[in-house]
Amino acid sequence: LRTKLQEFEKVSALAQLSAGIAHEIRNPLTTARGFLQLFGERCEQTDKAYLQLTIRELDRIQELLEDFMGLSRPDHEWLQSIDVCHLLQSVCHFLQPEASLCGVELTCSVPSESVFATVRPGRIKQVLINLVQNAVHACEGRTNGTVNLVLVDRGADIDISIVDNGCGIADTRQLFRPFHTTKPSGTGLGMFVSKHIVEAHRGRITVNSELNCGTVVSIHLPKTQPVT
Ligand code: ADP
Ligand code: MG
Repeated sequence: LRTKLQEFEKVSALAQLSAGIAHEIRNPLTTARGFLQLFGERCEQTDKAYLQLTIRELDRIQELLEDFMGLSRPDHEWLQSIDVCHLLQSVCHFLQPEASLCGVELTCSVPSESVFATVRPGRIKQVLINLVQNAVHACEGRTNGTVNLVLVDRGADIDISIVDNGCGIADTRQLFRPFHTTKPSGTGLGMFVSKHIVEAHRGRITVNSELNCGTVVSIHLPKTQPVT
């Protein structure tokens, strides 16, 4: 137990340190981006293309930082008892434009009665957005691509599943490794951060996938959290 505790302290010190660094990088990045944009307005056409490229690369750093800080950002958000059905519906609504842009049908199946759970709503929302976006990307360009968000009330626990009929995952062992991505401009942090957040809620994430058929990612959450 002692070594486990020491390990935990080491990891959280490291997380804090890297969150601080990520935060510090963000400010100069924003300044540099702003000046480049200003400069771009007055320079020659040929130079403009290079400037655009530079700005795009800066945006990529920004994206990486955002995803990374999702993991190590200090938790200011309080635990709240919320209706998870409502949360699922709002995520579904929020990602509807992105899904239709990818030609994917996004639906939500929740019980007719409210299901309450004690969570940090913003964090769980972030997890759901990560997972639904992955599911939508997996269906992009396939015929009849669908993503369904399903909530099942199991009494003391709830199961939230994101079901897609997309490309599937060849090797699920890599899935939660930080920076593992198969997308040209992915960060590979979505799954890693999601797992961390769900486990901080004393929950679990499970994945079932069949190559070329689809994937089910499920979040199992206890309804009531001990007060922390
Ligand atoms: P990113 O989305 O930036 O690539 P993630 O950590 O969110 O990073 O996902 C890592 C990788 O896991 C993705 O690049 C993709 O290959 C795979 N993946 C995740 N979810 C799915 C899914 N529902 N279907 C197929 N592949 C998936
Ligand atoms: Mg992702």
